[in-house]
Amino acid sequence: MRKKLIAGNWKMNQTKADGLALAKAVFEVASKEKGNFDVLICPGMNLLPLIAELPHEGVYLGAQDVSVAPKDFGAYTGDVSAAQLKDLGASHVIVGHSERRAMRHETDAIVKEKALNAIEKGLIPVVCVGETLEEREEGKALEIVCRQIRESVPSIATGENLVVAYEPVWAIGTGKVPSVQDVEEMHTAIREEIKSLLGESVASTMRILYGGSVKPSNAKELLGVANVDGALIGGASLKVEDFWGIAATQM
Ligand code: PEP
Repeated sequence: MRKKLIAGNWKMNQTKADGLALAKAVFEVASKEKGNFDVLICPGMNLLPLIAELPHEGVYLGAQDVSVAPKDFGAYTGDVSAAQLKDLGASHVIVGHSERRAMRHETDAIVKEKALNAIEKGLIPVVCVGETLEEREEGKALEIVCRQIRESVPSIATGENLVVAYEPVWAIGTGKVPSVQDVEEMHTAIREEIKSLLGESVASTMRILYGGSVKPSNAKELLGVANVDGALIGGASLKVEDFWGIAATQM
């Protein structure tokens, strides 16, 4: 049985004061209202070291990106290595978010390198995949996402050391969500692709999150779809009521 994962991607938001207040509020509610799911927050790099110092039992911490360089240290200005993230107390890292694929031109090969670096240092990469609106309208969504899976997921991935997040690009931050049928079709196809790549036991244990305009009002339905093992939440993770409103649908 795959345990659901409720993950927040805070993106490039918050000052120190705002971020610490939000983290404390999440830690407080998570310590009081425990459910049979895992909770992960991914604050910006301005906040991660500060938040990691707070007591956060029961909540995993993640970063939003990691260096592609397969080195712990070195001359890579602006980069943060997997080893450095691990040293801070992170357990997860988002890789291949569509904003980075589009705005920072990250290819599947780069995403795969980053995922590999993470796994090798004991971090769990949350590998994001998803089609654009144009690709969906052209009937290419399954083909594109399955290609992203094949080319972004390293061969050493297992159900324990890697998480996939299916995030249709057109659903991110737009308030639009795919139909339940489309989500089910895609998540089933992703699991099949992982099965053909890495085998049945990896496929059956790997968590596949849905992301894109998840809110308390649609979370129960989306997270109830077959093969959906949790949510990657952007906008709604910035308010504790909304983030926990989503988590609470799984209690
Ligand atoms: C995201 O960017 O990962 C995301 C899912 O954003 P939102 O929930 O705001 O659509």
